[in-house]
Order: sequence, then structure tokens, then C-alpha cells
Amino acid sequence: MSLDRLIEVSRRYGADSAYVLLGGGNTSVKEDGVLYVKASGHALGSIDEGGFVRMDLSKLDGIWHKAYSDDDQEREDEVLADMMACRLEGETGRPSVEALLHAILPFTFVVHLHPALVNGITCACKGEEATGRLFPDALWVELIKPGFTLAKTVRDRMGGAAYPMIFLENHGIFVGADTIEGIEAIYDRVMTTIEASLVRKPDFSGLEYDHSAVSSITQELEQVSGQQVLFATNNEVRSFLANAGAFEPVSSSFTPDHIVYAGFKPLWVAAGGDVGHAYRVFEQEHGEAAKIICVQQLGVFSVGEKPLPLFLDTVAIAVYSESFGGPKFMTREMIDFIRTWEVERYRAQVATV
Ligand SMILES: [Zn+2]
Repeated sequence: MSLDRLIEVSRRYGADSAYVLLGGGNTSVKEDGVLYVKASGHALGSIDEGGFVRMDLSKLDGIWHKAYSDDDQEREDEVLADMMACRLEGETGRPSVEALLHAILPFTFVVHLHPALVNGITCACKGEEATGRLFPDALWVELIKPGFTLAKTVRDRMGGAAYPMIFLENHGIFVGADTIEGIEAIYDRVMTTIEASLVRKPDFSGLEYDHSAVSSITQELEQVSGQQVLFATNNEVRSFLANAGAFEPVSSSFTPDHIVYAGFKPLWVAAGGDVGHAYRVFEQEHGEAAKIICVQQLGVFSVGEKPLPLFLDTVAIAVYSESFGGPKFMTREMIDFIRTWEVERYRAQVATV
């Protein structure tokens, strides 16, 4: 059955950090009028049948014939309620926030991922131009509110055409094909084409660091945060942490996943600064604690284990984006929208990895 093939490919990409971090991304297959789409809170790498929600495609189409509120929160609530009602009887899972987009793409299989290499283009100043040049058969969509708004925009832009690739600015890529082999061929083409266009790759090789400074900062952060704190450094991280100017390209959020898992921005602490004090000031100022703390000329501290891979992803994206006009963060407005977005909060809470 097609779902078995989808599970197989979901697990394969899900286990490969070049494609998927922390189980992010989602996949779907359409068969006999039913959309099987990844449920929120399931990791692709370990997904099985229970990780997919079955939805009625003709009911989902009905959503496009309804009018929704102009207010962001009201509209998302209304659409979510309608989407829940599109599930087949007995379904308890919550469909991915991008289920609507999966439903409208005219392909049997859809695999949506956020690979760092791809985000080197989607989070770059000249990303749109590079996408047009490298992938003339792709659709580019500028930064847009996720969920209903994004699906509606893509639906309008497609105008009945079938784009095998959709590059979403500051987010990732949707790939569609009628066979799994087709999906794999497109991903191979995307990754090798981008890689061949790079002027530079991140240098994640290790280096010496001051172990006693790291252990005292780790202890202090564990005390103020009440959580386990991890440390990492490498050549690339160190060069971004050389000074406040060098830090700029990794100082904000590239995509919604970065906000959800690593916080909306890292805390910067100058060399010799009081890390505990800076942590408390950040929390007072922003109403939420920092998840990533960057200490000048030393390395990065992660409160809990999830933020760290997302920050290293930020570093990789910043480097890749140099090949496409330099890094471009999400807008302040969109960052604020995601920070308060209930659906994303839900996902962060139920994430199983
Ligand atoms: Zn996504």
C-alpha cells in the first residue's frame, strides 16, 4: 500500500540530519479520496501508521468555499475546527498545520522538509532570484503566515498548474510526485544543485576551548534555568562568536522551527560578562527565558538538549546563505506572530523527541 512506501521514505529522510532535525517536516499520500497526513507531534524518523491522520479530501476541498474571519487567531481557530471535522471517523490525531497545503498539491506523494542546504536559499537575500535560476520549474512563495494563509496563497498562485517543488521563504520546501522514486529524484536534484552553487561550506571541525570557563558557566546556567545545560563549539561557531558584528548573521530566527525549539533569538554575552545576570535580564525583558546563550570567543550553551541542533542549523544556514546574497531572517512581525501562535505552541508541547 502507498502508506507503507510513505512511511519508509519518511523514516529514511527523518533519520538523516541533512534533511530533518528533531523530527521536523511532514509527509502525506493521497489514495482513494483519503489524505494520509502526518499528525502533529510525531517525529518522521520513527513514524508508523499511527503517526498519520486520515482525512476526507472532498471535505477538505469544502474549506475553500467558506468565508473565515480576518482576525488571525479567530481564523486559525475556525480553520482548525473545520480541519478536525475533515478527519475520518475515529481519528484522534491532530493533522499537521500544513495539511491544507498537502491536500491541494496535485500529487500522490508530498514530502515537506526543512533541510539546512535548502534553507540556505530560502533564508537568503537573493533566494528568489537563485531559485528562479537554479529551479525554473519551482514555485517561490515569499514569507507568509503558515497554515490557512499559506495554503490559500499557494492555491491562488498555482492556478491549476502542478509545481513539483515549492520553495517557501524562511521555511523550507514542499516536493510532490506521483511515485516515491519521483520524490527522491527531485530531492537529489535539489540538494546536488544547491551544493554545486556554494561558494563556501560550514567548517564544523572541533577546536580547543577553556574547559574550566565552560564548566563554571554551565553550572551557573543550570542554576538559573533549573535545567540541564549543554555546551558546543567548533570553528564555524567560534568565528560567528568573535565579536558582536560577526554574531549578527546568527542573531535572530530563520524559520518557525528555530523559534519553536531554540527561542526567538539567542542571548549574546560579551567575553567576561556576567552570564547569570544576562540570562535574568533577557527573561525580564522578553517575558521568556533564553534557550541559546552565545558567549563571545567561547561557544554556545543550550538550555535543554533541543535548542542546540537548531542553533547549529542556524549557523549552517547563515554560511550557505552567503552563496545567495547573504542571510535574511524572518521579519520582526512574523517572529512575533509565530511566538504567540497556539498551533506552534501545541507542537512544541507534544513533540515526542
Ligand atoms: Zn514546515
